[in-house]
Amino acid sequence: MDARRVAVVGAGLAGLSAALELKDHGYRVEVFERSRLLGGRATSFEIDGREVDNGQHVFLGCCTEFVRFAERIGMADRLHLQRRFDALLLARDGVASRLRAAPLPAPLHLLASFGRYRHLRLGGKLRVARALASALFERGDPGATFDVWLAKHGQDARTRRAFWDPFFIPALNAPLDRASGADALFVLSTAFLRGAGAARFGFSTVPLAHLAEAAALRVDAVHRSTAVLGVELASEQRARVRLRLAGDRAASFDAVVLAVPPRAVAKLLGDPQRFGVIGLDGYAPYPILDVHLWHDRGCLGFEFAALLESPLQWVFEKGPGYLCCSVSAADEYLTLPAADLERLVWEELLAFFPALRGAAPVRAAVTRNPEATFLPRPGMRRTPQRTAYPEIAIAGSWTDTGWPDTMESAVRSGTAAADVLREALGPTAGTEARTVA
Ligand SMILES: Cc1cc2nc3c(=O)[nH]c(=O)nc-3n(C[C@H](O)[C@H](O)[C@H](O)COP(=O)(O)OP(=O)(O)OC[C@H]3O[C@@H](n4cnc5c(N)ncnc54)[C@H](O)[C@@H]3O)c2cc1C
Repeated sequence: MDARRVAVVGAGLAGLSAALELKDHGYRVEVFERSRLLGGRATSFEIDGREVDNGQHVFLGCCTEFVRFAERIGMADRLHLQRRFDALLLARDGVASRLRAAPLPAPLHLLASFGRYRHLRLGGKLRVARALASALFERGDPGATFDVWLAKHGQDARTRRAFWDPFFIPALNAPLDRASGADALFVLSTAFLRGAGAARFGFSTVPLAHLAEAAALRVDAVHRSTAVLGVELASEQRARVRLRLAGDRAASFDAVVLAVPPRAVAKLLGDPQRFGVIGLDGYAPYPILDVHLWHDRGCLGFEFAALLESPLQWVFEKGPGYLCCSVSAADEYLTLPAADLERLVWEELLAFFPALRGAAPVRAAVTRNPEATFLPRPGMRRTPQRTAYPEIAIAGSWTDTGWPDTMESAVRSGTAAADVLREALGPTAGTEARTVA
């Protein structure tokens, strides 16, 4: 018997993770990607001869499946993960303070450093500490926003600006009066309260598309610049799904993973309800924009820093003279002309980094992502990977993984979708699980 043939629509991390999992189990896997680039939202491309990420991406020590994905494709050594949690937070008045883990079990590992944290006075620290202690025992009301939770736990404007905003707006990519309280508590307990290494920051040391390209080498075929226009149940006996492609072409497979954003799933299925898929219109996209800025001052000597009370939440020094400035939940900045954004960012950088005074920007580029992450309607159940048809599964960082829309969620969703199809298709010819070195 030939290996069962599976199509994956979408070469983002979710699709690639599903593809690897299926390939490892002996299926023949073909990936269809609309773009010429691989990696989806986590990609990179050249601007004026320099390769830049679609936007700075970080992962945390608790993102075990993303790290496993990188191991699986032989790229683990291209990920940098801090040895211990260490974050630099800067205020406009020039005060700098670090939150840094001590070699103690969680949550005690952050206690000493938080005690010395310069952006909050004693009263504010106690307020934050009390809220953190309650978070240990709460799961959050899925219908309530994080803002409501913070208010319930007595967090004032100062504690929000100095502690909650810099970590949670970027982590959830939403204003806190829109982010779900349950998601925020999940991040809080998973990253900060459970394991001492869980909150360590990590990032790729190579442009993000290199990860996707490495993953793509391990599947049977990748069809770039090939949008799938629709998915139908095929009538032939063995080929159970048919993909409609441009130019009246079609391709038939035993099963398919739809690893595309929610609206694209709706389009592919035509009538999602018929496939048992509901609520696809309940996801709101949230933007992120990044300003990539090159200056003539060389190395400033930091890895990354949060800027308090600035539209630039985090700035990363990606190389000598190259700063990547990230603006999460970026609604109000998204449509500003590039020149205005570049000016605004340079002025902010001059205010927060005295070492830049007298330096000159050399070049800049703006990457805008109006649909950087998807947030379900408050209280709505996220879409499962399983549909009413066993040969059609859905993957995507926005699907029900228990994680907010992140690279970790994307990878987990891909594995879960692959499991759904494996259950439906059964073992393929002569295969026991095969491991890709
Ligand atoms: C600027 C930015 C910063 C971010 N920062 C972080 C971060 O710091 N940490 C973090 O964990 N996450 C971050 N994220 C979120 C993270 O990138 C996503 O959660 C993750 O990459 C989503 O992966 P995915 O595979 O689910 O979806 P996508 O990456 O959106 O992949 C879907 C793919 O499907 C393709 N496609 C769509 N329709 C079709 C079709 N009809 N036919 C064929 N192909 C199709 C698309 O072209 C795309 O390649 C960020 C996102 C952005 C944009």
